Amino acid sequence: KVPVPSDIEISQSCIPKPIDQVAREVGLFPDEVELYGQTKAKVHLSALERLKSQPDGKYIVVTGITPTPLGEGKSTTTVGLVQALGAHLHQNVFACVRQPSQGPTFGIKGGAAGGGYCQVIPMDEFNLHLTGDIHAITAANNLVAAAVDARIFHELTQTDQALYSRLVPSVNGVRKFSDIQIRRLQKLGINKTDPATLTKEEVNFFVRLDIDPSTITWQRVLDTNDRFLRKITIGQSPTEKGFSRTAQFDITVSSEIMAVLALSDGLDDMKKRLGRMVVASSKRGEPVTADDLGVTGALAVLMKDAVKPNLMQTLEGTPVFVHAGPFANIAHGNSSVLADKIALKLVGKEGFVVTEAGFGADIGMEKFFNIKCRYSGLRPHVVVLVATVRALKMHGGGPAVSTGQGVPWARGNLQLLAKGCSNLNKQIQNARMFGVPVVVAVNAFKTDTKAELALVVQLAKEAGAFDAVECTHWAEGGKGAVALAQAVQRASQTPSNFRFLYNLELPVIDKIRLIAKQIYGASDIELLPEAQEKVAMYTKQGFGNLPICMAKTHLSLSHDPEQKGAPTGFILPIRDIRASVGAGFLYPLVGTMSTMPGLPTRPCFYDIDLDTASGEVKGLF
Ligand code: ADP
Repeated sequence: KVPVPSDIEISQSCIPKPIDQVAREVGLFPDEVELYGQTKAKVHLSALERLKSQPDGKYIVVTGITPTPLGEGKSTTTVGLVQALGAHLHQNVFACVRQPSQGPTFGIKGGAAGGGYCQVIPMDEFNLHLTGDIHAITAANNLVAAAVDARIFHELTQTDQALYSRLVPSVNGVRKFSDIQIRRLQKLGINKTDPATLTKEEVNFFVRLDIDPSTITWQRVLDTNDRFLRKITIGQSPTEKGFSRTAQFDITVSSEIMAVLALSDGLDDMKKRLGRMVVASSKRGEPVTADDLGVTGALAVLMKDAVKPNLMQTLEGTPVFVHAGPFANIAHGNSSVLADKIALKLVGKEGFVVTEAGFGADIGMEKFFNIKCRYSGLRPHVVVLVATVRALKMHGGGPAVSTGQGVPWARGNLQLLAKGCSNLNKQIQNARMFGVPVVVAVNAFKTDTKAELALVVQLAKEAGAFDAVECTHWAEGGKGAVALAQAVQRASQTPSNFRFLYNLELPVIDKIRLIAKQIYGASDIELLPEAQEKVAMYTKQGFGNLPICMAKTHLSLSHDPEQKGAPTGFILPIRDIRASVGAGFLYPLVGTMSTMPGLPTRPCFYDIDLDTASGEVKGLF
C-alpha cells in the first residue's frame, strides 16, 4: 500500500472549490456571505433569522475515550463522518469544528484540521489567522485588562469631584450621562438621569469602582506559547507612580471572551454576556463587571465580525463551519452555538450536523450537554465516541504512547486491550446517562490487528453502545467511514430521551459532587479551603445557579493523569473555584491548570517554512 502523505501535502494536492460556490450549494444567499479570499467566508447571522421557521437537522456530537496526549482522532473522525455522509451517502451535512490556537500549531501538538484524508482545507489557512477571530479576542480581552488597571490608577490619584468631571465631562456647560453610565447608576439603585442632581454620596458611589487589586481575575492574553509571561510584574514605569503588581498572560483561547463567543446565540446576547463578565471584586465584596468599566459597547464593536461563523470545506468538498475554540479545561471546549444553529437550519430536517466536543467524553461531552445544549436549547440525537486500540492498551496498563506508531511489544496483546476497555465502557455509560444513543467509532491505525479491532467492536456493543464500527477514514477518506455514517443514520432514527445531569438550582457543591461521582467514578469530593470560600462568595453574589465547568486533566477519568482505565473510589480534590459569569459558568479547579503553555526545546516551528518561489506553506501538520 502507498503510505499516506503528510497532512499538508494532502491538503495542498487538493484544489478547493471557490468558497462562494460552497455557500451557494448549502443554500446561502450572496448577501449572507462575506468572502475572505477564495477559500474562506463569514456567514451573516441574518441567515438564521431568514431560516428560523425551517426545522433543524439531526445533531451529532463527536467525543472520545480518555485519550493519550497525541489525541485519538475526534477531529479526524468529525471530518471523516461528514465526508462519508455528504460525499458518499449524498446527505445534507455540515461539520462544526473549533478554530485552533496558534500556540500549539507552533509548539508541540501541531494543527487541528483533522488528519490524513479527512481534513478541513486549506489546512494552513485553517490553522493560522483564519479570518482574525482570535486576534479580535486578543484585542477585546486586552482592552478590558487595560481598563481595569487604568481605572484603579485614576481612582487612586484623583478626588471624587475630579473623577466625576472627567467621567461626565461638561460639553458647552452641560453634563450628560452616556447609556452605559445610566446602566451603572441603575445598578447602584440611583434612578437619576440628570448629572446635576447627584448627591455627594451618590457621586462617590458612581465614580469609585473601588477595585480590590488582590481580587483581579482578568488577565492579559496572547495567542503564543510564551512561558515567561506566566507571571509578570506590570506598572514598572515611573509614570505609573509605583502602581506595580504581579499579573500574568494567558493564551488567548483561554480568555473568557472566547467562551462568550462560543456560547452566544446572537449579537445582542453576546453584548449582554460581554457586559456581565466579572473582572474583580470591589473592596465591599461586590463583583465589578466589564459594564461597570464602561467597556461593553467597545467590546461588542471589536467582536462584531468574530461573531459570524467561518465557512470552509473538507477535502471532499463538504461544508464546514470553523467557529470559536475555547479551552476544554477552564472553559467548555466546544465550538460555537451560532455555527451549530445556522448549520442545523441549512441542512434541513433530513440533514446532519456533526459537531465536536474537546477532550474525552467525561469532559467535553459532559460540558456539551450540561452547558452548551442548556444555553442553546438544542437537543442532540447521537453521540459518536472515538476509540483507538493504542489508547485502550494504555488504559489496560501498557506504557504511555509517545509516538503515532503504537506500542510494538504490545502489538496483538488482546488481554491488555480487553482490560483497557474499562475506559471505553465507562465513557459509553457516561454518554448513555444523558439518554442519547452512542455509536463507537474505532479509529483504525495501520499497526492495529484485525483481532484487536474486532475485540473493541464486540466489547463496545456489550457495554451498551447502539453500534460500534471499525473505520479507516484517516487512510481512505470518507469511504472509510461509510459504515460509521450508516450506523449514525440508524441511531438518529431512534428516539432520544435527552436529559441534563443536574438542575441548576442545586447548591454548587451538589452539582460538583454529581459530576464527580456519576461521570468520573469518584466516591466523593473534597473542597480545599479556598474552594469553600469561593462557594460562599459566589453563592452570596448570586452566581450559585450557574452550570459547572470542571477544569480537570483530560488524561484520566480521575484528577491524576497517571490513573488509567476506569478508576473508582477516589476523592476528587477541588482546589479552587473561579467564575466566568459572562460566558455563564463556574469552573472548579481540580489540581493546577496551566493557562499559558510553554515551548519545547524543538518546537514545531523548526519545520514550518515558506517556499518563497511558490508562496506555499511547508511543514504544518
Ligand atoms: P483529536 O481531535 O481527538 O485530538 P485528531 O483528529 O486531531 O485527534 O488526531 C490526532 C492526530 O492523530 C492527528 O495528527 C491525526 O492526523 C492523527 N491520526 C488520527 N487518526 C489516525 C489514524 N487512524 N492513523 C494515523 N494517524 C491518525
